[in-house]
Amino acid sequence: MQLSSDIIGNFRLVEAQKGALRRLNIGTVRDLLFHFPFRYEASGNETNVSGLALGADVSIIGTLEKLETKKSWKRRIPISEGYLRDETGKIKMMWFNQPYIAKMYADGTRVKAIGKVAGSAGKLYLANPKLERVSADAVSDTGLFIVDANTGEKKADAHEQKLFAQYPETRGITSLWFRHALEKILTAGVLDQLEDPIPADLLKRYNLPTLTAALVWIHTPQTEKDAAAARKRFAFEEVFLIQLERQLERLAQSREKSFAVTASQDAIEAFIGAFPFSATVAQKRAIDTILNDMRTGRPMSRLLEGDVGSGKTAVAASAAHATICTRPEGQKCGTLQVAYMAPTEILAKQHFESFIHYFEQFPINIGLITGSGSYKFPSKIKREKATPVSRTQLLKWVANGEIPILIGTHALIEKSVQFKHLALVVIDEQHRFGTNQRRKLAHKETRIPHLLSMTATPIPRTLALTVYGDLDLTLLDEMPPGRKPIITEIVTQSGRAAAYAKIREQLQAGRQAYVICPRIDEPDPEKAFALQAKSVTEEAKRLKKDIFQDRTIDILHSKMKPSEKDATMQRFSAHEIDILVATSVIEVGVNVPNATMIFIEGAERFGLAQLHQLRGRVVRSNHQAYCFVCPESRGEHTLARLKALATAKNGFELAEQDLLQRGPGELGGRKQWGISDIGMEALKNLKLVEAARTEAIALIKKDENLAQHPLLARTVTARAQTTHFE
Ligand code: ADP
Ligand code: MG
Repeated sequence: MQLSSDIIGNFRLVEAQKGALRRLNIGTVRDLLFHFPFRYEASGNETNVSGLALGADVSIIGTLEKLETKKSWKRRIPISEGYLRDETGKIKMMWFNQPYIAKMYADGTRVKAIGKVAGSAGKLYLANPKLERVSADAVSDTGLFIVDANTGEKKADAHEQKLFAQYPETRGITSLWFRHALEKILTAGVLDQLEDPIPADLLKRYNLPTLTAALVWIHTPQTEKDAAAARKRFAFEEVFLIQLERQLERLAQSREKSFAVTASQDAIEAFIGAFPFSATVAQKRAIDTILNDMRTGRPMSRLLEGDVGSGKTAVAASAAHATICTRPEGQKCGTLQVAYMAPTEILAKQHFESFIHYFEQFPINIGLITGSGSYKFPSKIKREKATPVSRTQLLKWVANGEIPILIGTHALIEKSVQFKHLALVVIDEQHRFGTNQRRKLAHKETRIPHLLSMTATPIPRTLALTVYGDLDLTLLDEMPPGRKPIITEIVTQSGRAAAYAKIREQLQAGRQAYVICPRIDEPDPEKAFALQAKSVTEEAKRLKKDIFQDRTIDILHSKMKPSEKDATMQRFSAHEIDILVATSVIEVGVNVPNATMIFIEGAERFGLAQLHQLRGRVVRSNHQAYCFVCPESRGEHTLARLKALATAKNGFELAEQDLLQRGPGELGGRKQWGISDIGMEALKNLKLVEAARTEAIALIKKDENLAQHPLLARTVTARAQTTHFE
């Protein structure tokens, strides 16, 4: 067996297992080795059917009996039912929305059932238990082997290993299968083929296990300590690799040339002085920092992080203004150019309009390019208006430099868009945008534009240090004065009516509302037993029928086509819709000032930072704004957590709380950042992140291109290739 061997050639697999492996992207022996368990179960923890306590989490080994699928007449969902029998008796089991359970297992199959004891005294049952096949004679678990971490040797003693790895399963494949397969792999000598990319002195300094030991420990730990050490090693490795990649990127950037933006202080002050408001201290500071960066002629890479409404657009406009006030080097006419990219058409249009206002007193052209049309400001006929133009014409003006500012969606970075002297790229709510993309945008290969990335997503410090390790960070941590604080209320089920009454009153006064639901429409089989979260489609129907009969209600969710979403948003913007029932898709940047209310269903399903983002949608005007957060459950923990929403000063505080209380999974965006579960876990640990960062910086200082660490260099590149998206 080789690391690169196909799993299919080395294991006897049924179709369901092959399918599951495919879904998990596991093709080779190496893939399997790096498919890590997400938790461990102690053996000998199994209980018996007799003496179960209501609410307990149990795992019981027994035999299946009388499996069948029924339809619940009340909720019209399929239910699988059956019994688990052991030496002490039998207990009922029920699965909601999982009709396939009864088909997957035959009566008489010996399984371990893991789940919660539900029901009522005398009528106990296991709710949605997970089933794992166990071999016929298993009393405890069946992972009857241990592997020596140093020699890879398999030991016969079955009773020393006390922990059993549990793998994230998909239908068709069990943790038991993984444990057996890994037993085979770990003892087949393939570990010798692995080289450790992490330098040995680093492992020593931080007391981390070698790659081989860590692989053995993560799959077949003998103690919790081993498992933890292994996980820590992989966490360190991942953060270290990300840090190296970012530091290399930073180094590459520092060698690049960019445009020196040399607008005069007077010009900048005149621009800021023309705002219809006075800039906040934070805005002034951010503008200063950015202009200092851009003066140097080295490409700026800066992330501007500020809560919704903190006024990032004004900062971006100032940077844009300074840029277009600068002549290209050695030229007597023309100006440097700015590209401003927004994640959606709606937002691009909004920025276009804001920029028209910010540049009202300055005679310049601004272009807008989106998938559905191109515009130019000002119009020749009406100086105060924008006019539609053909895409070809607009691109001509951009290419010859007549349009110094081009705003748009992703359409901006298509090949056909060529600038003459693109010196600044502003990106709104886009998470990663590296040197390569920037180079693509640049007209000449010799200079790359400055980058100003802006986000309202609150990012905890560890994440900022890691994922955005190649960017400098500026916080806009101050709100413009005079904003009415939003009224945030936690609504219990009994308080619903009062909340609706408040909304009705505000709708009457001419305002609009969002209602946010966790789901679109289909039931969620994973959560089948719990109360199903509200869905957009159902809730919209219910509100129309029972609560707000005389109001226009429409829906918005991620499964709609972009053009449908845009059309709905336009109608909401134009107040043709009173209540928009939506999933969290409205989270990013949407700006409808007249929408002053947001009612969030199933609030505990969202992270605090995300709730804060959602709430940010309704603080866009001088009307009093309201946020109603309505959890499904009433646990003390839930309420305490949600109460933090009312008291936290800003989004960063909430993001840190999310990270510590609920885990990194709550931050969302994991895929986009290209971080594994283990890596995300590491982000809870500031010390580890800082250590990985320090080491990465030190290493690059000593060995700039990692020439002395070829394996490490290859690993960094390989990682970058699998996680980067263009
Ligand atoms: P962000 O993009 O950070 O969410 P915007 O730039 O869209 O915020 O600004 C939100 C609103 O606040 C806009 O209407 C803008 O005109 C206004 N604004 C920005 N800065 C200030 C300020 N210093 N004082 C008053 N209003 C401001
Ligand atoms: Mg904005």
